[in-house]
Amino acid sequence: MKTCTRCIYDDEHIPNITFDNEGVCNYCKEYDTLDKSYPVDESKFNEWIKKIKGSGKYYDCILGFSGGCDSSFLLTRIVDAGLRPLAVNYDNHWGTEISEQNLKKVTSKLGVDLLKVYVDETEYNDIVKSFFYSGTPDIEVCADIGLAVAQMDSASKMRCKYILDGHNFRTEGSAPTGFIYMDAKYIKSVHSLFGKIPMKTYKNMYLKPWLKWMVLDGIQRVRLMPILDYNKEEAKKELKERFGWEWYGGHHFENKLTYFFHTYFMPTRFNMDQRYFDLSASVRMNRITRDEALEEIKKPIKCDKNVIDEVIRRIGFTQEEFEKVMNLPIKSYKDYETYHETFKRYKWFFWMMMKMNRVPKTFYLKYCR
Ligand SMILES: [Zn+2]
Repeated sequence: MKTCTRCIYDDEHIPNITFDNEGVCNYCKEYDTLDKSYPVDESKFNEWIKKIKGSGKYYDCILGFSGGCDSSFLLTRIVDAGLRPLAVNYDNHWGTEISEQNLKKVTSKLGVDLLKVYVDETEYNDIVKSFFYSGTPDIEVCADIGLAVAQMDSASKMRCKYILDGHNFRTEGSAPTGFIYMDAKYIKSVHSLFGKIPMKTYKNMYLKPWLKWMVLDGIQRVRLMPILDYNKEEAKKELKERFGWEWYGGHHFENKLTYFFHTYFMPTRFNMDQRYFDLSASVRMNRITRDEALEEIKKPIKCDKNVIDEVIRRIGFTQEEFEKVMNLPIKSYKDYETYHETFKRYKWFFWMMMKMNRVPKTFYLKYCR
């Protein structure tokens, strides 16, 4: 096993990893590229605020809001800076009680309108179930696409030009390239093969509406988190003091399906442990040392058995069926119909869109090259 000399990624746990002469991995390099493109710079943040302020009639911007630490921090910062955002929450019925409370506490105290976008629960779970049958790791991508559509759609209806989200490449620890994949055609093709219930209330990101939002409506996706001086531990403390906000115990654990995905599904099915991403991100930011991270990763992953049982019950598996899907042959998005070839073919277009902030840079880097 070979481990990166800078972070803790190794070639046993991280796919598509390569090392340079000094033993530094390609993901650290990718991080450095992004770090140079988006340096921490509070004056840039103020410039963006000036630009966004007053740009919409009712709201200045849309903010994708999960009630988690990152998006709560961002919401607080932009409201303090004088913006009038509409907080958009995508509710797939798997949010925890704590995160539901957090959503309400933060928005009500800040005086921010909260729009909850729902999808039919049975239908949503049927899409998730079809991804279990697909053999791919992508059982969670319908949540990301659903949220993206909810944001774009609200921005279009409210005539907002800006969408902000809590994404931060520094703290997320970019997931390995070519591993998690998502697009609308992919969701549709997997669901049409393995789904049982017609897709009616689930809003998918097909090319046509997406192009309208990108080109005609000119909606920009702005990622302010990377340019902010953000320390998660301090943010947690501040949110608790100001709003009575509560920590939910782990990165991405504000949602039970996400929790299941990170603590059970990925480690069991794909030998993939989210902690590698989180810890390596902390090492790259000098929040902890590499040795501390290597020590931490040795501890076993904690997973609440009750959550596994709840997933089995609510997705509608029998115990045998669940065992069966957890042991299906491993597949990837390449085994299904997707937009990937289209993204690659129109690389120049998406490059332009990236330059105009219409798609995130990470999208271009991961999907178009
Ligand atoms: Zn590395």
